[in-house]
Amino acid sequence: MRFDIATLFPEFIENSLNESVIGRARKKGLFEAYCHNIRDYTLDKHRRVDDTPYSERQGMLMQAQPIYDCWKAVCGERKPHVIYMSPQGKTLTQKRALELARMSDIFILCGHYEGVDQRVLDKIVDEEISIGDYVVSGGELPALVLIDCVVRTLDGVLSQPDCYEDESHFNGLLEYPQYTRPEVWEGEAVPPVLLSGHHANILKWRREQSLLNTLKKRPELLQNAELTAKDLEFLHNT
Ligand code: SAM
Repeated sequence: MRFDIATLFPEFIENSLNESVIGRARKKGLFEAYCHNIRDYTLDKHRRVDDTPYSERQGMLMQAQPIYDCWKAVCGERKPHVIYMSPQGKTLTQKRALELARMSDIFILCGHYEGVDQRVLDKIVDEEISIGDYVVSGGELPALVLIDCVVRTLDGVLSQPDCYEDESHFNGLLEYPQYTRPEVWEGEAVPPVLLSGHHANILKWRREQSLLNTLKKRPELLQNAELTAKDLEFLHNT
């Protein structure tokens, strides 16, 4: 899988993509990422890429030309799926991340300032994706969130698929509570079932705790989760 990221801050993205789980996956060649500095494509002799908006709003907007020329130069004959990181897009979900992970070629545009001239968005963007209903200063952090979320589901990135399949949101529920050594800490013991070695009971506990956690923290998620008759009975009796 290949990502091309068009940004005014390529070093920021580049450095972050070399860290931790994602950095190791990149080194192993499990995905490729190339950062492109939009400023390299401006025709302005002072390397400007922004100008004032026509709407009489304060602030600056990214101009269409450098972004369009960057996209053209990077893509050539390729036709990657083009994503604009934007607070106006559909909110990123685990489900959408899994769908994106099946694509082989993704181009991500990171906005800055007050955003981007609408005309270039209309021309090149296939999809706008938001990381949540709030505004951050640039598309770089949102792009990193998206890449991380997609890449960790690719084969070989985590040691086992259940590392992410058991996590919150994969099946529409939140994860169950987790415990590690010591068995007793500050007088609080690990739930005995987890020490029992009884696989079926542990699975049942995990499912029930996952249902309880979701009910307590994000009850609205239960409406769209795939629940069995046993799950419904458990919730009914809770
Ligand atoms: N004026 C724009 C608006 O109200 O929709 C927001 C511009 S924001 C300050 C600058 C850039 O940050 C955007 O072009 C976008 O690329 C990125 N951005 C900000 N918030 C985001 C979010 N929640 N999700 C994804 N990208 C975001």
